[in-house]
Amino acid sequence: MTSDSALPQYEHYIDGRPTPPADGGYFPTDNPWDGKTWAMVARGNAKDVDLAVMAAHRAFEVGPWSTMTPSERGRLMWKAADLIASKAERLALIEQRDNGKLITEVVAQVRYMADYLKYYAGLADKIQSAVIPTDKKGVFAYTRYEAKGVIAIITPWNSPLTLTSWKLAPALAAGCTVVVKPSEFTSASMVELAAIFTEAGFPPGVINVVTGFGPEVGQPLVEHRKVEHIGFTGGSVAGKRIYELAASHFKTVTLELGGKSPNIVFDDADLDQAVKGVVSGIFAATGQSCQAGSRLLLQRSIHDVFIEKLLAFMKDVRLGDPSDPQTQIGPVATRPQFEKILSYIEIAKAEGAECVLGGRSRPDLGAGQFIEPTIFVKVRNEMRIAQEEVFGPVLAVIPFDDEEDAIRIGNDVAYGLAGAVWTRDLKRAMLMTDRLKAGTLWVNNYRATSFTSPFGGYKESGIGRESGIDAIKEYLHTKCVWMSSDLEVPNPFIRR
Ligand code: NAD
Repeated sequence: MTSDSALPQYEHYIDGRPTPPADGGYFPTDNPWDGKTWAMVARGNAKDVDLAVMAAHRAFEVGPWSTMTPSERGRLMWKAADLIASKAERLALIEQRDNGKLITEVVAQVRYMADYLKYYAGLADKIQSAVIPTDKKGVFAYTRYEAKGVIAIITPWNSPLTLTSWKLAPALAAGCTVVVKPSEFTSASMVELAAIFTEAGFPPGVINVVTGFGPEVGQPLVEHRKVEHIGFTGGSVAGKRIYELAASHFKTVTLELGGKSPNIVFDDADLDQAVKGVVSGIFAATGQSCQAGSRLLLQRSIHDVFIEKLLAFMKDVRLGDPSDPQTQIGPVATRPQFEKILSYIEIAKAEGAECVLGGRSRPDLGAGQFIEPTIFVKVRNEMRIAQEEVFGPVLAVIPFDDEEDAIRIGNDVAYGLAGAVWTRDLKRAMLMTDRLKAGTLWVNNYRATSFTSPFGGYKESGIGRESGIDAIKEYLHTKCVWMSSDLEVPNPFIRR
Protein backbone atom coordinates (compact mmCIF):
# COMPACT_ATOMS: atom_id res chain seq x y z
CA MET A 1 0.00 0.00 0.00
CA THR A 2 1.29 3.50 -0.75
CA SER A 3 0.76 6.22 1.82
CA ASP A 4 -2.62 7.91 2.32
CA SER A 5 -1.38 11.51 2.28
CA ALA A 6 -4.27 12.77 4.47
CA LEU A 7 -2.86 10.88 7.44
CA PRO A 8 0.35 11.48 9.38
CA GLN A 9 3.16 9.39 7.96
CA TYR A 10 5.97 7.71 9.88
CA GLU A 11 9.22 6.94 8.05
CA HIS A 12 12.06 4.76 9.29
CA TYR A 13 14.64 6.64 11.33
CA ILE A 14 18.12 5.90 10.00
CA ASP A 15 21.45 7.66 10.46
CA GLY A 16 19.92 10.58 12.36
CA ARG A 17 17.00 11.37 10.05
CA PRO A 18 13.60 10.16 8.84
CA THR A 19 14.17 7.83 5.89
CA PRO A 20 11.48 6.69 3.44
CA PRO A 21 11.10 2.95 2.89
CA ALA A 22 13.31 1.51 0.14
CA ASP A 23 10.33 0.03 -1.71
CA GLY A 24 7.96 2.92 -1.00
CA GLY A 25 5.39 0.83 0.90
CA TYR A 26 3.38 1.92 3.95
CA PHE A 27 0.89 0.16 6.21
CA PRO A 28 -1.89 1.57 8.39
CA THR A 29 -1.71 1.80 12.17
CA ASP A 30 -5.04 1.80 14.03
CA ASN A 31 -6.40 3.16 17.28
CA PRO A 32 -7.87 0.21 19.22
CA TRP A 33 -10.37 2.46 21.01
CA ASP A 34 -12.19 3.84 17.93
CA GLY A 35 -10.88 1.34 15.38
CA LYS A 36 -9.74 4.13 13.05
CA THR A 37 -6.48 4.26 11.12
CA TRP A 38 -4.66 7.32 12.44
CA ALA A 39 -1.28 7.12 10.65
CA MET A 40 0.65 5.32 7.95
CA VAL A 41 3.92 3.60 8.78
CA ALA A 42 6.86 2.71 6.56
CA ARG A 43 6.87 -0.97 5.61
CA GLY A 44 10.49 -2.02 5.84
CA ASN A 45 12.38 -4.88 4.27
CA ALA A 46 15.92 -6.27 4.13
CA LYS A 47 17.18 -3.21 2.18
CA ASP A 48 16.05 -0.82 4.91
CA VAL A 49 17.51 -3.14 7.53
CA ASP A 50 20.86 -3.16 5.76
CA LEU A 51 20.89 0.65 5.54
CA ALA A 52 20.13 0.95 9.26
CA VAL A 53 22.58 -1.70 10.43
CA MET A 54 25.38 -0.24 8.33
CA ALA A 55 24.66 3.24 9.75
CA ALA A 56 24.80 1.74 13.26
CA HIS A 57 27.99 -0.10 12.36
CA ARG A 58 29.65 3.09 11.08
CA ALA A 59 28.61 4.98 14.20
CA PHE A 60 30.11 2.21 16.29
CA GLU A 61 33.37 1.86 14.36
CA VAL A 62 34.14 5.42 13.32
CA GLY A 63 32.86 7.77 15.99
CA PRO A 64 32.17 10.23 17.43
CA TRP A 65 30.07 7.90 19.64
CA SER A 66 32.75 5.25 19.87
CA THR A 67 35.47 7.77 20.73
CA MET A 68 33.52 9.40 23.57
CA THR A 69 34.47 8.55 27.12
CA PRO A 70 31.89 6.61 29.14
CA SER A 71 31.29 9.79 31.20
CA GLU A 72 30.53 11.76 28.03
CA ARG A 73 28.12 9.05 26.89
CA GLY A 74 26.46 9.13 30.29
CA ARG A 75 26.01 12.92 30.14
CA LEU A 76 24.40 12.67 26.72
CA MET A 77 22.04 9.95 27.93
CA TRP A 78 21.09 12.15 30.90
CA LYS A 79 20.31 15.01 28.51
CA ALA A 80 18.12 12.75 26.36
CA ALA A 81 16.35 11.54 29.51
CA ASP A 82 15.46 15.11 30.50
CA LEU A 83 14.12 15.81 27.00
CA ILE A 84 12.05 12.62 27.08
CA ALA A 85 10.60 13.56 30.47
CA SER A 86 9.69 17.01 29.13
CA LYS A 87 7.83 15.38 26.21
CA ALA A 88 6.30 12.52 28.21
CA GLU A 89 2.68 13.55 27.59
CA ARG A 90 3.15 13.78 23.84
CA LEU A 91 5.00 10.46 23.59
CA ALA A 92 2.39 8.80 25.80
CA LEU A 93 -0.48 10.08 23.65
CA ILE A 94 1.14 8.62 20.54
CA GLU A 95 1.86 5.28 22.18
CA GLN A 96 -1.61 5.11 23.69
CA ARG A 97 -3.25 5.87 20.35
CA ASP A 98 -1.58 2.70 19.04
CA ASN A 99 -2.06 0.24 21.89
CA GLY A 100 -5.10 1.55 23.78
CA LYS A 101 -3.43 1.44 27.17
CA LEU A 102 -4.67 3.77 29.91
CA ILE A 103 -3.20 7.23 29.40
CA THR A 104 -2.52 7.54 33.12
CA GLU A 105 -0.33 4.44 33.03
CA VAL A 106 1.46 5.32 29.77
CA VAL A 107 2.41 8.84 30.93
CA ALA A 108 3.88 7.31 34.09
CA GLN A 109 5.70 4.69 32.02
CA VAL A 110 7.29 7.28 29.72
CA ARG A 111 8.43 9.39 32.69
CA TYR A 112 9.86 6.26 34.22
CA MET A 113 11.69 5.57 30.97
CA ALA A 114 13.62 8.79 31.60
CA ASP A 115 14.58 7.47 35.04
CA TYR A 116 15.68 4.25 33.41
CA LEU A 117 18.03 6.14 31.11
CA LYS A 118 19.43 8.12 34.01
CA TYR A 119 20.17 4.99 36.02
CA TYR A 120 22.23 3.59 33.15
CA ALA A 121 23.70 7.01 32.34
CA GLY A 122 25.16 6.92 35.84
CA LEU A 123 26.40 3.38 35.32
CA ALA A 124 28.22 4.15 32.04
CA ASP A 125 31.46 5.15 33.79
CA LYS A 126 31.27 2.68 36.67
CA ILE A 127 31.85 -0.57 34.84
CA GLN A 128 35.19 -1.59 36.29
CA SER A 129 37.19 -4.49 35.02
CA ALA A 130 39.78 -6.37 37.05
CA VAL A 131 43.46 -7.07 37.43
CA ILE A 132 43.68 -10.86 37.53
CA PRO A 133 46.06 -12.44 40.02
CA THR A 134 47.21 -15.37 37.84
CA ASP A 135 49.19 -18.52 38.64
CA LYS A 136 51.76 -17.64 35.91
CA LYS A 137 54.95 -15.82 36.72
CA GLY A 138 56.17 -12.82 34.71
CA VAL A 139 52.78 -11.70 33.43
CA PHE A 140 50.33 -8.96 34.22
CA ALA A 141 46.77 -9.91 33.26
CA TYR A 142 43.71 -7.71 33.25
CA THR A 143 40.20 -7.71 31.79
CA ARG A 144 38.52 -5.12 29.61
CA TYR A 145 34.80 -4.84 29.02
CA GLU A 146 34.19 -3.88 25.41
CA ALA A 147 30.92 -2.87 23.79
CA LYS A 148 29.60 -5.70 21.60
CA GLY A 149 28.73 -3.47 18.64
CA VAL A 150 25.40 -3.23 16.84
CA ILE A 151 22.45 -4.45 18.91
CA ALA A 152 19.07 -5.44 17.42
CA ILE A 153 16.14 -4.54 19.67
CA ILE A 154 12.82 -6.19 18.83
CA THR A 155 9.78 -5.33 20.94
CA PRO A 156 6.05 -6.15 21.34
CA TRP A 157 3.02 -3.86 21.43
CA ASN A 158 1.99 -3.92 25.06
CA SER A 159 4.60 -1.49 26.49
CA PRO A 160 6.68 -0.45 23.48
CA LEU A 161 8.77 2.38 24.92
CA THR A 162 9.23 0.82 28.35
CA LEU A 163 10.40 -2.48 26.93
CA THR A 164 12.68 -0.68 24.46
CA SER A 165 14.27 1.29 27.30
CA TRP A 166 15.06 -1.95 29.17
CA LYS A 167 17.44 -2.79 26.31
CA LEU A 168 18.34 0.60 24.91
CA ALA A 169 19.57 2.15 28.16
CA PRO A 170 22.14 -0.55 29.08
CA ALA A 171 23.17 -0.94 25.42
CA LEU A 172 23.94 2.80 25.11
CA ALA A 173 25.70 2.90 28.48
CA ALA A 174 27.87 0.00 27.29
CA GLY A 175 28.81 2.01 24.17
CA CYS A 176 26.83 -0.03 21.65
CA THR A 177 24.71 1.31 18.79
CA VAL A 178 21.24 -0.02 18.06
CA VAL A 179 18.64 -0.79 15.42
CA VAL A 180 15.14 -1.03 16.88
CA LYS A 181 12.29 -2.92 15.25
CA PRO A 182 9.11 -2.01 17.13
CA SER A 183 5.93 -4.06 16.87
CA GLU A 184 4.02 -3.47 13.64
CA PHE A 185 1.06 -2.48 15.86
CA THR A 186 2.91 0.25 17.78
CA SER A 187 5.67 1.80 15.67
CA ALA A 188 5.02 5.53 15.94
CA SER A 189 6.25 6.24 19.46
CA MET A 190 9.63 4.65 18.74
CA VAL A 191 10.18 6.76 15.62
CA GLU A 192 9.36 9.88 17.66
CA LEU A 193 11.70 8.73 20.41
CA ALA A 194 14.64 8.30 18.03
CA ALA A 195 14.23 11.92 16.87
CA ILE A 196 14.39 13.09 20.51
CA PHE A 197 17.78 11.42 20.91
CA THR A 198 19.02 13.34 17.85
CA GLU A 199 17.65 16.56 19.35
CA ALA A 200 19.58 15.78 22.55
CA GLY A 201 22.81 15.63 20.53
CA PHE A 202 23.22 11.91 19.84
CA PRO A 203 25.42 11.38 16.77
CA PRO A 204 23.75 9.97 13.62
CA GLY A 205 23.56 6.19 13.46
CA VAL A 206 23.63 5.49 17.20
CA ILE A 207 19.85 4.87 17.36
CA ASN A 208 18.05 3.67 14.24
CA VAL A 209 14.49 2.45 13.77
CA VAL A 210 13.15 0.23 11.00
CA THR A 211 9.40 -0.31 11.10
CA GLY A 212 7.48 -3.20 9.63
CA PHE A 213 6.63 -6.85 10.11
CA GLY A 214 8.47 -9.69 11.85
CA PRO A 215 9.45 -11.82 8.84
CA GLU A 216 10.18 -8.76 6.63
CA VAL A 217 12.20 -6.65 9.09
CA GLY A 218 12.82 -8.65 12.28
CA GLN A 219 14.24 -11.69 10.57
CA PRO A 220 16.77 -9.92 8.27
CA LEU A 221 17.77 -7.81 11.28
CA VAL A 222 18.52 -10.87 13.40
CA GLU A 223 20.44 -12.46 10.53
CA HIS A 224 22.43 -9.39 9.49
CA ARG A 225 26.15 -10.13 9.70
CA LYS A 226 26.95 -6.86 11.52
CA VAL A 227 24.43 -7.43 14.34
CA GLU A 228 26.14 -8.88 17.40
CA HIS A 229 23.35 -9.34 19.92
CA ILE A 230 19.55 -9.48 19.88
CA GLY A 231 17.47 -8.10 22.72
CA PHE A 232 13.96 -9.45 22.20
CA THR A 233 10.69 -9.16 24.11
CA GLY A 234 7.69 -10.95 22.74
CA GLY A 235 5.90 -14.25 22.50
CA SER A 236 7.36 -17.75 22.60
CA VAL A 237 6.80 -18.51 18.90
CA ALA A 238 8.77 -15.50 17.63
CA GLY A 239 11.25 -15.93 20.52
CA LYS A 240 12.00 -19.51 19.50
CA ARG A 241 12.44 -18.50 15.84
CA ILE A 242 14.80 -15.68 16.81
CA TYR A 243 16.79 -17.98 19.10
CA GLU A 244 17.21 -20.49 16.24
CA LEU A 245 18.27 -17.78 13.79
CA ALA A 246 20.68 -16.27 16.31
CA ALA A 247 22.17 -19.69 17.05
CA SER A 248 22.81 -20.36 13.38
CA HIS A 249 24.85 -17.13 13.25
CA PHE A 250 26.47 -17.59 16.74
CA LYS A 251 24.91 -14.42 18.12
CA THR A 252 24.05 -13.79 21.74
CA VAL A 253 20.47 -13.08 22.83
CA THR A 254 18.37 -11.87 25.69
CA LEU A 255 14.84 -13.20 25.38
CA GLU A 256 11.99 -11.91 27.53
CA LEU A 257 9.04 -14.11 26.72
CA GLY A 258 5.65 -15.00 28.12
CA GLY A 259 4.35 -16.23 31.45
CA LYS A 260 1.59 -18.05 33.31
CA SER A 261 2.42 -16.72 36.73
CA PRO A 262 0.83 -18.05 39.93
CA ASN A 263 -0.62 -15.54 42.38
CA ILE A 264 -0.86 -17.65 45.56
CA VAL A 265 -3.11 -16.65 48.46
CA PHE A 266 -2.82 -18.48 51.81
CA ASP A 267 -5.51 -18.54 54.46
CA ASP A 268 -3.48 -16.35 56.86
CA ALA A 269 -3.13 -13.47 54.34
CA ASP A 270 -4.81 -10.08 54.63
CA LEU A 271 -7.49 -11.04 52.13
CA ASP A 272 -8.62 -7.51 51.29
CA GLN A 273 -5.08 -6.52 50.35
CA ALA A 274 -4.62 -9.76 48.42
CA VAL A 275 -7.76 -8.99 46.40
CA LYS A 276 -6.13 -5.74 45.23
CA GLY A 277 -2.95 -7.66 44.35
CA VAL A 278 -4.91 -10.21 42.35
CA VAL A 279 -6.80 -7.48 40.45
CA SER A 280 -3.58 -5.61 39.69
CA GLY A 281 -1.96 -8.88 38.60
CA ILE A 282 -4.55 -9.85 36.00
CA PHE A 283 -6.80 -6.91 35.14
CA ALA A 284 -4.33 -3.99 35.00
CA ALA A 285 -3.30 -3.24 31.40
CA THR A 286 -6.32 -5.35 30.37
CA GLY A 287 -4.27 -8.41 31.32
CA GLN A 288 -1.86 -7.74 28.45
CA SER A 289 1.20 -8.08 30.56
CA CYS A 290 3.91 -10.72 30.45
CA GLN A 291 4.00 -10.80 34.24
CA ALA A 292 0.22 -11.15 34.60
CA GLY A 293 -0.83 -13.25 37.58
CA SER A 294 -3.10 -15.29 35.35
CA ARG A 295 -3.39 -18.29 37.70
CA LEU A 296 -4.91 -17.53 41.09
CA LEU A 297 -4.03 -20.31 43.52
CA LEU A 298 -6.39 -20.15 46.51
CA GLN A 299 -6.02 -22.16 49.69
CA ARG A 300 -9.14 -24.32 49.81
CA SER A 301 -10.37 -23.02 53.20
CA ILE A 302 -10.67 -19.42 51.93
CA HIS A 303 -11.66 -20.20 48.34
CA ASP A 304 -15.32 -19.16 48.49
CA VAL A 305 -14.90 -16.12 50.71
CA PHE A 306 -12.03 -14.84 48.56
CA ILE A 307 -14.02 -15.22 45.33
CA GLU A 308 -16.88 -13.29 46.96
CA LYS A 309 -14.52 -10.46 47.89
CA LEU A 310 -12.96 -10.45 44.42
CA LEU A 311 -16.35 -10.26 42.70
CA ALA A 312 -17.42 -7.46 45.05
CA PHE A 313 -14.25 -5.50 44.21
CA MET A 314 -14.77 -5.95 40.46
CA LYS A 315 -18.44 -4.91 40.55
CA ASP A 316 -17.81 -1.22 39.86
CA VAL A 317 -14.76 -1.46 37.61
CA ARG A 318 -14.96 1.07 34.77
CA LEU A 319 -14.29 -0.07 31.20
CA GLY A 320 -14.04 2.60 28.52
CA ASP A 321 -12.01 5.20 26.68
CA PRO A 322 -8.37 4.75 27.71
CA SER A 323 -7.69 8.47 27.32
CA ASP A 324 -10.23 9.19 30.10
CA PRO A 325 -8.32 9.27 33.41
CA GLN A 326 -11.32 7.63 35.15
CA THR A 327 -11.14 4.48 33.00
CA GLN A 328 -9.68 1.40 34.67
CA ILE A 329 -9.81 -1.15 31.85
CA GLY A 330 -9.26 -0.21 28.23
CA PRO A 331 -9.65 -2.06 24.94
CA VAL A 332 -7.60 -5.03 23.81
CA ALA A 333 -4.69 -3.65 21.83
CA THR A 334 -5.02 -5.60 18.59
CA ARG A 335 -7.74 -7.42 16.66
CA PRO A 336 -5.82 -10.76 16.55
CA GLN A 337 -5.29 -10.55 20.31
CA PHE A 338 -9.01 -9.82 20.84
CA GLU A 339 -9.92 -12.93 18.82
CA LYS A 340 -7.34 -15.00 20.69
CA ILE A 341 -8.72 -14.03 24.12
CA LEU A 342 -12.29 -14.84 23.04
CA SER A 343 -11.16 -18.23 21.76
CA TYR A 344 -9.50 -19.01 25.13
CA ILE A 345 -12.75 -18.14 26.91
CA GLU A 346 -14.49 -20.74 24.75
CA ILE A 347 -11.69 -23.26 25.38
CA ALA A 348 -12.04 -22.78 29.15
CA LYS A 349 -15.81 -23.32 29.01
CA ALA A 350 -15.37 -26.43 26.87
CA GLU A 351 -12.82 -27.77 29.36
CA GLY A 352 -15.40 -27.55 32.12
CA ALA A 353 -14.24 -24.40 33.93
CA GLU A 354 -17.05 -22.28 35.39
CA CYS A 355 -17.22 -18.61 34.43
CA VAL A 356 -18.22 -16.49 37.47
CA LEU A 357 -17.44 -13.08 35.97
CA GLY A 358 -17.44 -11.64 32.45
CA GLY A 359 -16.70 -14.05 29.64
CA ARG A 360 -18.04 -11.76 26.92
CA SER A 361 -16.92 -9.04 24.55
CA ARG A 362 -18.42 -5.53 24.77
CA PRO A 363 -19.52 -4.43 21.29
CA ASP A 364 -21.14 -1.32 22.83
CA LEU A 365 -17.78 0.21 23.85
CA GLY A 366 -15.62 2.16 21.39
CA ALA A 367 -15.05 0.05 18.30
CA GLY A 368 -16.05 -3.04 20.28
CA GLN A 369 -12.56 -4.40 20.89
CA PHE A 370 -13.33 -4.93 24.57
CA ILE A 371 -13.45 -8.04 26.71
CA GLU A 372 -15.02 -8.03 30.14
CA PRO A 373 -12.78 -8.94 33.05
CA THR A 374 -13.28 -12.70 33.24
CA ILE A 375 -12.88 -15.16 36.12
CA PHE A 376 -13.02 -18.93 35.80
CA VAL A 377 -13.29 -21.19 38.86
CA LYS A 378 -13.12 -25.00 38.97
CA VAL A 379 -9.96 -24.88 36.89
CA ARG A 380 -7.53 -27.80 37.03
CA ASN A 381 -3.91 -26.98 36.39
CA GLU A 382 -3.65 -29.36 33.44
CA MET A 383 -6.35 -27.45 31.51
CA ARG A 384 -5.20 -25.26 28.61
CA ILE A 385 -6.62 -22.18 30.34
CA ALA A 386 -4.12 -22.85 33.16
CA GLN A 387 -1.17 -23.82 30.97
CA GLU A 388 -1.19 -21.41 28.03
CA GLU A 389 -0.65 -17.68 27.99
CA VAL A 390 -3.89 -15.85 27.15
CA PHE A 391 -2.47 -12.32 27.44
CA GLY A 392 -5.81 -10.82 28.35
CA PRO A 393 -8.15 -10.14 31.32
CA VAL A 394 -8.86 -13.81 32.05
CA LEU A 395 -8.15 -15.33 35.45
CA ALA A 396 -7.99 -19.08 36.12
CA VAL A 397 -8.68 -19.97 39.77
CA ILE A 398 -7.21 -23.21 41.13
CA PRO A 399 -7.64 -24.42 44.74
CA PHE A 400 -4.77 -25.93 46.76
CA ASP A 401 -4.38 -27.65 50.14
CA ASP A 402 -0.99 -26.69 51.61
CA GLU A 403 2.46 -25.30 50.75
CA GLU A 404 3.65 -28.44 48.94
CA ASP A 405 0.50 -28.50 46.84
CA ALA A 406 0.87 -24.80 45.95
CA ILE A 407 4.53 -25.29 45.00
CA ARG A 408 3.70 -28.29 42.82
CA ILE A 409 0.88 -26.49 41.01
CA GLY A 410 2.79 -23.19 40.85
CA ASN A 411 5.78 -24.80 39.12
CA ASP A 412 3.79 -27.14 36.89
CA VAL A 413 3.80 -24.95 33.74
CA ALA A 414 6.26 -24.40 30.92
CA TYR A 415 6.81 -20.80 32.02
CA GLY A 416 8.69 -19.26 34.96
CA LEU A 417 8.51 -15.49 34.66
CA ALA A 418 6.98 -14.32 37.95
CA GLY A 419 4.68 -15.13 40.83
CA ALA A 420 3.43 -13.89 44.17
CA VAL A 421 2.69 -15.22 47.63
CA TRP A 422 0.19 -13.63 50.04
CA THR A 423 0.79 -14.62 53.65
CA ARG A 424 1.60 -13.09 57.04
CA ASP A 425 3.84 -16.04 57.91
CA LEU A 426 7.51 -15.25 57.30
CA LYS A 427 8.64 -18.88 57.21
CA ARG A 428 5.92 -19.73 54.72
CA ALA A 429 6.95 -16.77 52.56
CA MET A 430 10.58 -17.90 52.61
CA LEU A 431 9.72 -21.51 51.81
CA MET A 432 7.59 -20.46 48.87
CA THR A 433 10.09 -17.96 47.44
CA ASP A 434 12.85 -20.60 47.77
CA ARG A 435 10.91 -23.26 45.93
CA LEU A 436 8.96 -21.43 43.21
CA LYS A 437 10.83 -21.43 39.91
CA ALA A 438 10.45 -17.91 38.54
CA GLY A 439 12.67 -14.91 37.84
CA THR A 440 10.60 -12.50 39.98
CA LEU A 441 8.64 -13.30 43.14
CA TRP A 442 6.59 -10.79 45.09
CA VAL A 443 5.48 -11.28 48.69
CA ASN A 444 2.30 -9.38 49.62
CA ASN A 445 2.50 -7.23 46.48
CA TYR A 446 2.32 -7.67 42.72
CA ARG A 447 3.65 -6.06 39.53
CA ALA A 448 6.49 -3.95 40.98
CA THR A 449 9.51 -3.61 38.69
CA SER A 450 12.41 -1.17 38.69
CA PHE A 451 15.48 -0.22 36.71
CA THR A 452 17.45 -1.32 39.78
CA SER A 453 16.12 -4.89 39.84
CA PRO A 454 16.89 -7.83 37.53
CA PHE A 455 13.93 -9.08 35.51
CA GLY A 456 13.71 -12.19 33.35
CA GLY A 457 12.45 -15.72 33.15
CA TYR A 458 13.12 -19.32 34.08
CA LYS A 459 12.26 -22.09 31.62
CA GLU A 460 10.29 -20.94 28.55
CA SER A 461 9.91 -17.41 29.91
CA GLY A 462 13.27 -16.47 28.52
CA ILE A 463 17.01 -16.20 28.64
CA GLY A 464 19.07 -13.55 30.39
CA ARG A 465 18.11 -10.67 32.65
CA GLU A 466 17.18 -7.04 32.01
CA SER A 467 17.43 -4.12 34.46
CA GLY A 468 19.82 -3.78 37.35
CA ILE A 469 23.60 -3.40 37.26
CA ASP A 470 24.34 -6.79 35.69
CA ALA A 471 22.12 -6.18 32.65
CA ILE A 472 24.83 -4.03 31.12
CA LYS A 473 27.04 -7.13 30.82
CA GLU A 474 24.64 -8.51 28.17
CA TYR A 475 25.99 -5.73 25.89
CA LEU A 476 29.69 -6.17 26.70
CA HIS A 477 32.36 -8.65 25.71
CA THR A 478 34.98 -9.56 28.29
CA LYS A 479 38.51 -9.45 26.94
CA CYS A 480 41.52 -10.71 28.92
CA VAL A 481 44.89 -9.09 28.18
CA TRP A 482 48.16 -10.81 29.13
CA MET A 483 51.20 -8.51 29.33
CA SER A 484 54.59 -10.14 29.78
CA SER A 485 57.12 -8.61 32.13
CA ASP A 486 59.71 -11.32 31.36
CA LEU A 487 62.67 -10.33 29.22
CA GLU A 488 62.87 -13.82 27.74
CA VAL A 489 60.04 -15.70 26.08
CA PRO A 490 60.11 -19.10 27.80
CA ASN A 491 60.43 -22.46 26.01
CA PRO A 492 58.11 -22.04 22.99
CA PHE A 493 57.31 -25.78 22.83
CA ILE A 494 55.79 -25.97 26.27
CA ARG A 495 52.53 -24.26 27.14
CA ARG A 496 52.93 -21.95 30.10
P1 NAD B 1 5.28 -11.30 19.10
O1 NAD B 1 6.24 -12.33 19.53
O2 NAD B 1 4.24 -11.66 18.12
O3 NAD B 1 6.06 -10.06 18.45
C1 NAD B 1 7.11 -9.41 19.12
C2 NAD B 1 8.01 -8.75 18.10
O4 NAD B 1 8.68 -9.76 17.35
C3 NAD B 1 7.28 -7.88 17.10
O5 NAD B 1 8.04 -6.72 16.86
C4 NAD B 1 7.22 -8.77 15.87
O6 NAD B 1 7.11 -8.07 14.66
C5 NAD B 1 8.55 -9.48 15.97
N1 NAD B 1 8.63 -10.74 15.23
C6 NAD B 1 7.65 -11.64 14.99
N2 NAD B 1 8.13 -12.67 14.28
C7 NAD B 1 9.44 -12.44 14.07
C8 NAD B 1 10.49 -13.15 13.39
N3 NAD B 1 10.27 -14.32 12.78
N4 NAD B 1 11.73 -12.63 13.39
C9 NAD B 1 11.98 -11.46 14.02
N5 NAD B 1 11.03 -10.73 14.64
C10 NAD B 1 9.77 -11.22 14.68
O7 NAD B 1 4.66 -10.73 20.44
P2 NAD B 1 3.51 -9.67 20.62
O8 NAD B 1 2.22 -10.32 20.25
O9 NAD B 1 3.89 -8.39 19.97
O10 NAD B 1 3.55 -9.46 22.22
C11 NAD B 1 2.95 -10.31 23.11
C12 NAD B 1 3.94 -11.30 23.70
O11 NAD B 1 5.05 -10.62 24.28
C13 NAD B 1 3.34 -12.12 24.83
O12 NAD B 1 3.65 -13.48 24.67
C14 NAD B 1 4.02 -11.58 26.08
O13 NAD B 1 4.12 -12.46 27.14
C15 NAD B 1 5.36 -11.16 25.57
N6 NAD B 1 5.94 -10.15 26.45
C16 NAD B 1 6.97 -10.51 27.29
C17 NAD B 1 7.51 -9.59 28.17
C18 NAD B 1 8.64 -9.97 29.09
O14 NAD B 1 9.34 -9.08 29.55
N7 NAD B 1 8.87 -11.22 29.37
C19 NAD B 1 7.01 -8.30 28.20
C20 NAD B 1 5.97 -7.96 27.35
C21 NAD B 1 5.44 -8.90 26.46
